[in-house]
Amino acid sequence: MSDPRKEQGPATRLAAAGRRAEWTSIAGRKGGVVNPPIWRGSTHLYEDSADLAAGRPNEDGHFYYGRRGSPTQWALAEALTQIEPGAAGTILYPSGVAAIAGALLAVLRAGDVLLMTDNAYQPSRALAEGLLQRMGVETRWFDPLDVAGFPAHFCKRTKAVLLESPGSLTMELCDTPALAAIAREKGAVSLIDNTWASPLGFPALERGYDISIMSLTKHVGGHSDVMMGSVSAGEPHFSRIRRMSQQLGQVVSPDDAALAMRGLRSLSLRLERESGSALEIAQWLAGRPEVARVLCPMLPGAPGHDLWARDFTGGCGLFSFVIKGRDDAARARFLDALELFGIGYSWGGFESLAIPFDPQGARSATSWPPPGTDPADRLGIRLSIGLEDPADLIADLERGFAAMDRG
Ligand SMILES: *Cc1c(COP(=O)(O)O)cnc(C)c1O
Repeated sequence: MSDPRKEQGPATRLAAAGRRAEWTSIAGRKGGVVNPPIWRGSTHLYEDSADLAAGRPNEDGHFYYGRRGSPTQWALAEALTQIEPGAAGTILYPSGVAAIAGALLAVLRAGDVLLMTDNAYQPSRALAEGLLQRMGVETRWFDPLDVAGFPAHFCKRTKAVLLESPGSLTMELCDTPALAAIAREKGAVSLIDNTWASPLGFPALERGYDISIMSLTKHVGGHSDVMMGSVSAGEPHFSRIRRMSQQLGQVVSPDDAALAMRGLRSLSLRLERESGSALEIAQWLAGRPEVARVLCPMLPGAPGHDLWARDFTGGCGLFSFVIKGRDDAARARFLDALELFGIGYSWGGFESLAIPFDPQGARSATSWPPPGTDPADRLGIRLSIGLEDPADLIADLERGFAAMDRG
């Protein structure tokens, strides 16, 4: 059979994914329900001793024991595999951080060197400096924008590269496929935290990455009510990741899997709407006198835009901007005046959020503010644009700027 993932558009795949007849109907009956029901269960019962003896503990998609999931979780994992061309399978984790840890632990051992992008999500840095260091894995940081200097970071012990593009908070978008190609040439496994773009905006495996990681808490859940993560990969990496997740005892609840599946169905629609609104708001911010820089690769003229246009098929509602001069108190007045934007971590929900950031303490191979910019322009704000009317969000930001300079 030909691979339907190659022939159908992503929106069609999202509607059909994970809806196998055996997960949505009762044996012997045609038709059934649209979504796989929520199967709650720790024990899976066997017909008799012979059935138990014939158990298939190492095969996916069969009842065995609660930790190996049920059709509710299998359907979500399969749906994520179906939207990630090149994936042999997907493993679910109770959070995005657990997914990053699960993938890194599957590919690294004592004595290895990990190259991590300098603009990685902070808990990824904490993992490198904590557990990975304790187990004898050395992490070295690199500037993702320095493609020419990238090969020099590798040594014989370099076994894996972890990238994010765009990077967390500061949103640098690098030559994403080129870094994957260099990692491959050097014999290292390449992993990408692809939470920002999702496979709809950046089909990571097709673009040369070995392992694609997502925090499903963000876009896939989409409603700020569930935490989950995923790792998708082709072989041989998928088998290693699956084995490690089983050793770590990772499992997600069927209720959470059903929520994530519900979010997944409307993913393309939400990403499209949020990207459009974000672009409109980024454009408006670029024209404000209080703004030094808009860090939004989707915005023509912004850093990384040309590479985004070349390599990505979509974006999302998450971007940042830097306030011109001013101090912490002024930024706090801006945030506190917002009525529609909530102040909080996470992103990708239906509701807009704003959060301040100051990355200078969390950078090893790059500096903040970036060289060539005014050092006074260093206070960042990250926005996650939700599904509200963009005109109302702009009015809210206007309220913030007015309060910021009221003093
Ligand atoms: C939020 C986030 C994660 C972690 O996801 P959780 O589900 O919150 O653990 C990982 N990577 C990126 C880029 C994130 O923004």
